[in-house]
Amino acid sequence: MTTIRTVGIIGAGQMGAGIAQVCAQGGYEVVLYDASADAVKAAVGRIEKGLARLVEKEAITTEQATDALKKLMPAASVSELKDCDLVIEAATEKEEVKNAIFKSVCEHLKPEALLASNTSSISITRLAAATDRPGKFIGLHFMNPVPIMKLVEIIRGIATDAATYETAVAFAQSLGKITANSEDFPAFIVNRILIPMINEAIYTLYEGVGTVEAIDTGMKLGTNHPMGPLELADFIGLDTVLAIMNVLYEGLSDSKYRPCPLLVKYVEAGWYGRKTGRGFYDYRGEKPVPTR
Ligand code: NAD
Repeated sequence: MTTIRTVGIIGAGQMGAGIAQVCAQGGYEVVLYDASADAVKAAVGRIEKGLARLVEKEAITTEQATDALKKLMPAASVSELKDCDLVIEAATEKEEVKNAIFKSVCEHLKPEALLASNTSSISITRLAAATDRPGKFIGLHFMNPVPIMKLVEIIRGIATDAATYETAVAFAQSLGKITANSEDFPAFIVNRILIPMINEAIYTLYEGVGTVEAIDTGMKLGTNHPMGPLELADFIGLDTVLAIMNVLYEGLSDSKYRPCPLLVKYVEAGWYGRKTGRGFYDYRGEKPVPTR
């Protein structure tokens, strides 16, 4: 089994930053790379803030926060991931982007290094097949926000070997996470159930059955969900929600997974939700205001 000491993370958006934080807190050396240098910088800033909040809440000591920050190494090129024992890809949910990343990073990695994708929906078997190490490839699907959410879904591709699986489970558990195994089918377990529900909420809005507020209040108070589905869609990122619906639609060839045209329209406008300041709510003022 590969011993994991250094973890490389590719993609420093909301998920990559969260994964980097929990790995650093778990005592791993972390190398964080993104195609955008600004994204890496912003991620380090968010991690610093996240750790400071944990200190305030007395969940960790100042010393633990300082130690975690010392473990974090921002990288300007994928070649800086060469000594990593495990690389977790957490870049944009597009298969061609992920394939290009794996191609560029594999040539720098040790033969025994493991590769994981944090993809929400794309076939692990297919991503693995396009790399030089399908046996050492696995899906490690963290939930958002990573430092808070307990679950990591584990997805084995058809070629993933037993040692890779065992190492991945032990690694997720070492971060204080609980694992659930999913077979490698479009969107796995959590998003197979969650994202069509969110798409249905968007249809409910599109067809005028309810307003943004009525839909979110209805689902929060009527089903005890901590967030309404439209608020949650904005939190996940509408580009990611649409990408997952498209993977379900194409992968399962069933019209019940067709993305709502209103979701497509928001994404075409660049209104991706919280991360761009506007989605089903406008976040640019003091308090979120529905955009319809
Ligand atoms: P995000 O938009 O916040 O971040 C994506 C990052 O990837 C950006 O910083 C972008 O610059 C970077 N990137 C794009 N192309 C790249 C490349 N070629 N090389 C390196 N970096 C590149 O997205 P996110 O929400 O962090 O999602 C990232 C991944 O995690 C996706 O696969 C998504 O499906 C998955 N995921 C998302 C959530 C969620 O709730 N948002 C939950 C679980 C898993």
